[in-house]
Amino acid sequence: MVAQPNGDPSAPLSPGLDHQALERFQIWIRPLQQALSLEAERGFVNVQGRQETFHSFLSRELGAPPGIPFPPDCKERLQAFSNDFQSYPSLSDAARRRLVTTVRQWLHALRQRLEPTRPMAPPKLKVATSSPAAPATHHGIMPLDAPLSRVRGIGPKQAERLASLGLLVVRDLLLHYPRDYVDYSALRRIEALVPGETATIVATVRRCHGFTSPRNPNLSILELQLQDPTGRIKVSRFLAGRRFSNPSYLHGQTRLYPNGATVAVSGLVKDGPYGLSFQDPLIEVMESAQAPLQSKRIGRLLPVYSLTEGLTADRFRTLVEAALPSVRLWPEPLPPQRRQARQLLDRHQALTAIHRPETSEQLQQARQRLVFDEFLLLQLGLMQRRAALRQRAAPSLRIASDRDGLLARFLDNLPFQFTGAQTRVLAEIDEDLERSEPMARLVQGDVGSGKTVVAVAALLKAIQAGWQGAMMAPTEVLAEQHYHSLCQWLPPLHVTVELLTGSTPLKKRRQLLADVASGGCKVLVGTHALLEDPVAFERLGLVVVDEQHRFGVRQRNRLLGKGLQPHLLTMTATPIPRTLALSLHGDLDVSQIDELPPGRTPILTTMLAGSERDQAYSVIREEVEKGQRAYVVLPLVEESEKMDLRSAVDVHRQLEEEEFPDLKVGLLHGRLPSAEKQAVIQAFARGETQVLVSTTVVEVGVDVPEASVMMIDHADRFGLAQLHQLRGRVGRGAAASRCLLINDSRNPLARQRLEVLVRSTDGFEIAEMDLRLRGPGQVLGTRQSGLPDLALASLADDGSVLEEARDEAADILRNDPDLNNHPVLRCLLDDQRNRVTSAAQLN
Ligand code: ADP
Ligand code: MG
Repeated sequence: MVAQPNGDPSAPLSPGLDHQALERFQIWIRPLQQALSLEAERGFVNVQGRQETFHSFLSRELGAPPGIPFPPDCKERLQAFSNDFQSYPSLSDAARRRLVTTVRQWLHALRQRLEPTRPMAPPKLKVATSSPAAPATHHGIMPLDAPLSRVRGIGPKQAERLASLGLLVVRDLLLHYPRDYVDYSALRRIEALVPGETATIVATVRRCHGFTSPRNPNLSILELQLQDPTGRIKVSRFLAGRRFSNPSYLHGQTRLYPNGATVAVSGLVKDGPYGLSFQDPLIEVMESAQAPLQSKRIGRLLPVYSLTEGLTADRFRTLVEAALPSVRLWPEPLPPQRRQARQLLDRHQALTAIHRPETSEQLQQARQRLVFDEFLLLQLGLMQRRAALRQRAAPSLRIASDRDGLLARFLDNLPFQFTGAQTRVLAEIDEDLERSEPMARLVQGDVGSGKTVVAVAALLKAIQAGWQGAMMAPTEVLAEQHYHSLCQWLPPLHVTVELLTGSTPLKKRRQLLADVASGGCKVLVGTHALLEDPVAFERLGLVVVDEQHRFGVRQRNRLLGKGLQPHLLTMTATPIPRTLALSLHGDLDVSQIDELPPGRTPILTTMLAGSERDQAYSVIREEVEKGQRAYVVLPLVEESEKMDLRSAVDVHRQLEEEEFPDLKVGLLHGRLPSAEKQAVIQAFARGETQVLVSTTVVEVGVDVPEASVMMIDHADRFGLAQLHQLRGRVGRGAAASRCLLINDSRNPLARQRLEVLVRSTDGFEIAEMDLRLRGPGQVLGTRQSGLPDLALASLADDGSVLEEARDEAADILRNDPDLNNHPVLRCLLDDQRNRVTSAAQLN
């Protein structure tokens, strides 16, 4: 499919592109390649981006290539592809996959053809790869950029299958790390297996059958009976998903393990009513049934890769083996002294060992090196960004410490004392503000820990120094909440504060913008949309951003006013674990308010089963009778047949008519117009409604001290951090508060997750557990996070390597800020930046 007679981009003869054309070409092709790999990764579902769907993006972009000298016939081919993508939604899965694969390969070839030799190889290696088109040498060493079809043993068909895994060139294959290893060095006899232990056995298949669970059509089970000279054991493999219940699929699976075949099984041994078993272990069919114990695999760690149809495990390993000699060409990013100082393997040793480990110690070392490199790049990128920011000039907000100053009066007027943590964090902010480089600080603190007052203090300092401040929130509801709390503190000090949101009437808006531009308005509160439609300030000194994980370079640039960069203070009540904070916010300083104001009564959290909803309703009734109020939170707005979620609208009706006919029940959801939302919240705050049914819009910013019950339906569908946030909506007053988590899931993991909340009220601990149980992508909302892909590194487990890499990155940049003496690192970093930017474009 790759070698097209027409418009074959790898055909000879092309005018080299000049610099400008090359840049236009790259700007066009990168998002395309990114979108295609995202689509492949997601299983050809026609991914919905923020702006448009995958197919319309592809169709449009392929149909409008930049006006640069393309090789002959390319344009026609692109047009044809563009047309193909128009009908993408109506294609079968297989046809979609074919189209995506073909276009990926074609674009890849086009890029190879139009771009000059890739800069990744360091100069000294150019000798070895001097002739990029040279065929594989007899040592089997091929350039890392050689298409896989040139690897011995890979034909066009095979290459296509590999392409559907995103593997196009030798480098890709080498970077396709094993997802696991079968440990043939921990070999056991069946009689010697111990429950609770991880072990490997080599045994013969006696029986294998597959069936779909009679109780759950989405669960199919493959069951094997295995035997070795010392006994028998059962092995089950669970296949979750309706597509597996297809009888012909199941039959195909059983045929993989014919009677008499020799298999190696590796996994956790479990004890059960019918004796010992392996559950969901790795299973390998071994080739030599006769003498398994003589097999070359014994005593080895055998890599296991994630595979695609039509590629057996053994076959795949052979392919990787064939490509492995090429690791010698791998550019080494770290100079030898640095490697030695940290006792790291060479990059090429590490790559070899990750695919062909001799011992588990060696595997460990290999992994360590590769993880180190992933983190090193991440940290270098963030630190360079931070350094660039520091170069800008910011107003130095130094004020005399007089007792009549705004800040002093504010602190004096407060009806409470700052906690130790608040005082510490404010001092950290103060120090930043007095510097003439822009502050970039993140304040993390649990809900109710008193972040907002700290921000107000910082704003007052800016104003006292003669500057203006802005405060931005992600939603209108939250912006309005902030506005109200600021109105409580600022006007008494004769500081003007105004609110600007999408629903501000035009006339008011004009007046307001004029006041901001003239400096008459000192503090402007609004949504992040303030940035999209930049407001001109007379002298903007400090910007406070609430509840935003990421504040990108682009947004920061929009804040540049009159050549001076305002200071930036970000606040979040979704504390993220230190490891994640370091990797995600390596370009921010982080402060933590890790202490709650005194006198709060802890919230009692209980988990209830779906069948125990009545108990929750009784609690609500009791509290309302005591004069308190209750939230009932649901995950979705409308009935979703698929997931059988009870919608807020239905629940509202049911509560109003059946459960609490004598009470007033309010309804709040994201689809209500802003004014109506505000009215619903006000009614609840004033006690006109006693129960508020809501979707997660209450998560941020609604502050009603009389609310003392938070019931969360389908709690299993929320993330822990989000549940913790929701729970923070109660317990704001003096009354003891309760949180009721309804768990409708039978999944033990869901239960385990919710138990974390029952046990702990510490936001940091909860975030840490969430990260462990769900992984960082889930915790942060996947690709929104702007984290480059980490292939091997785990943010939950590799904390210490991350710290080392961070030190190393700082040390490298100290002596070589632009990485002029580290060309390989520099290229890798450029590459990574391009990948991240183009990923962000589609999202
Ligand atoms: P956050 O923004 O971190 O959720 P807020 O700043 O909104 O927290 O504070 C929550 C509540 O606690 C507010 O009513 C605030 O006035 C109050 N508060 C803040 N700091 C203190 C303190 N040190 N002592 C007592 N109450 C405080
Ligand atoms: Mg707050």
